[in-house]
Amino acid sequence: MMPRLSRLSASGSITALAAVACLIAGSAVAPAWAQDQATSAEPAMASPTGPNDLLNATLWMQRSVEYKANSLVIYALGRVRLDEALADPSWSALDQSDAADKPAAIILDLDETAIDNSAYESGLVTTNSDYSSKTWDAWTKAEDAKAVPGVIDFLKYADSKGVKIFYITNRNADQEEATRANMEALGYPMGGNVDTFLMNKEKPEWTSDKTPRRDHVAKDYRVLELFGDNFNDFTDKASGTMDEREAAFEELKDHFGKDWFMLANPTYGSWESTAYDNNYKLSTEEKRAKKVEALKPWTPAAQ
Ligand SMILES: [Mg+2]
Repeated sequence: MMPRLSRLSASGSITALAAVACLIAGSAVAPAWAQDQATSAEPAMASPTGPNDLLNATLWMQRSVEYKANSLVIYALGRVRLDEALADPSWSALDQSDAADKPAAIILDLDETAIDNSAYESGLVTTNSDYSSKTWDAWTKAEDAKAVPGVIDFLKYADSKGVKIFYITNRNADQEEATRANMEALGYPMGGNVDTFLMNKEKPEWTSDKTPRRDHVAKDYRVLELFGDNFNDFTDKASGTMDEREAAFEELKDHFGKDWFMLANPTYGSWESTAYDNNYKLSTEEKRAKKVEALKPWTPAAQ
């Protein structure tokens, strides 16, 4: 989860960690994606007292073959589309109109898109604890994240075609070294002499809203594909109300399956914080009430 903070990269801008925490127990911390907007990254810990809402999502991501099969499909389609993109000089996942002569690149989020932090999240369930920037940082420094199924083979293929691979993550700049070591050991393409790890706060204008970092890549490259697990990995229209996000999705949905690819992440994300208006100061109970309120249930008629 934490990675969520970083992982998420929501337009909001907390840190992935925070996001995780929030998801887990409705703590006061904002997720990574929302972190930048939060005034403090440190959650006011509210120990969960009941069943943990993260259990099923974490179990699915860490132990199900269904999750593995799902991500394999995403990266298999990514490879098919990459071949199409390389054969089409007008192709751009960022609607670039002047990029035909630029070298090709793709952009991936890290947490829960390219690397798997489900062990951290599972630990939050088994210890009945919330995400915290301290434990999240310890997790990143442990360099124990795993590869999301299918991603390494896909990235090695893209690399073999001369495509530059950029990682835009809301993990913080001071976590870059450990993140690089973790990923290099797993076999990810590392970018050679180009800095392809674009971290949150690495430059003052690089906030949890990833748009400036996408623009940074687009200056010198034709961006063929985007991969993420959060709407804000693709657009700055990920924040806002549920209705606003639905409207943005309707406007942008033709990208998905063509040049944008969304990994499933039921454990955290802007989809969840949107349900409680991105108000990380609400109590766990208040957040749960808002989420239940957001449901559209059918119930049987009273007997
Ligand atoms: Mg992510």
